[in-house]
Amino acid sequence: MATRWNFRRAVVTGGAGFVGSHLCERLLSLGTQVVCLDNFLTGLPENVGHLTNDPGFRLARCDVTDYIHVPGEVDLVLHFASPASPVDYLRLPIQTLKVGSTGTLHSLGLAREKKARFVLASTSEVYGDPLEHPQREDYWGNVNPLGPRGVYDEAKRFAEALTTAYRANCGVDTVIARIFNTYGPRMRPDDGRAIPTFIRQALAGEPITVTGDGSQTRSVCFVDDTVQGILALAASGHPGPVNIGNPDETTVLRLAETIRQMVDAQVPIQLVDRPVDDPRKRRPDTTLAETLLGWRSTTSREEGLDKTIAWFRSALASQEELPSFTH
Ligand code: NAD
Repeated sequence: MATRWNFRRAVVTGGAGFVGSHLCERLLSLGTQVVCLDNFLTGLPENVGHLTNDPGFRLARCDVTDYIHVPGEVDLVLHFASPASPVDYLRLPIQTLKVGSTGTLHSLGLAREKKARFVLASTSEVYGDPLEHPQREDYWGNVNPLGPRGVYDEAKRFAEALTTAYRANCGVDTVIARIFNTYGPRMRPDDGRAIPTFIRQALAGEPITVTGDGSQTRSVCFVDDTVQGILALAASGHPGPVNIGNPDETTVLRLAETIRQMVDAQVPIQLVDRPVDDPRKRRPDTTLAETLLGWRSTTSREEGLDKTIAWFRSALASQEELPSFTH
């Protein structure tokens, strides 16, 4: 970590989700106590089951759009609660808008009350279907507020505006992390995102479904690197926004081919319809993160995919451990 880590007690909203659970784990390993708040809308208590015996860890079922009450000192609030995959936010549009607006308001209120540093998990989706490439933090984006994805993109854009207003008007020490596509163990195989879908299909011997002609690009970052970047940002004192992602850009078709080869699956790649407003390209400009935090993603695509495939393999072998959507 570039800057000294001296947070004693953190609140992680959405801590039982994919990224949140890795964050909780890393915070505990740094000696920071963790209060994990989650309503299990898209996450699972099992994601943090291995942490519950740690005396520094507390899991509380809480919908952050209702209210947040955390007794005791808190010096870091990480607001990660939100449906994040298109499959989830398209079937949970109102919950997504509520957690981006009211949930962010309550999380900022907690940070204000406790005089804590506040980290907003924003997203590359604030850039929409970008007209500038790669995406720098000063790009305002190209978002369709009325399209189906608007519920997520606009919720996060509102959350950024609210965070900025709390910083300017209420003196809260905030930072906005614009996180790009992240992957790794504990993603739900049915969450609809490209990597878990491709791995699940390849392992099941089913055709791998690629949307459009597969020429759209993504830049994917392994979750350990994303978490490292977020914590470096938390420790930095910078207000952001800062892109956290891996600039290693690839086409979705290439990603499918790589996974098929790594799984050694003899399955066809099947082209299916592109979702409405699906971004054609995505690559972070990470200059700011590199100069400001000395952080960049270090896990190669092959290494990250290897770890992720291994996790899916063993989870599939013990089917009951596989997180799946049950609501
Ligand atoms: P996830 O769905 O696995 O985790 C989100 C968690 O938030 C879940 O555990 C869910 O139950 C919880 N949650 C949702 N609404 C809540 C509410 N009202 N109250 C309490 N908890 C609630 O998603 P993820 O991929 O881990 O994403 C986590 C955060 O990071 C999200 O804010 C997302 O927008 C952001 N992000 C993720 C990525 C990515 O590639 N994974 C990229 C950009 C931004």
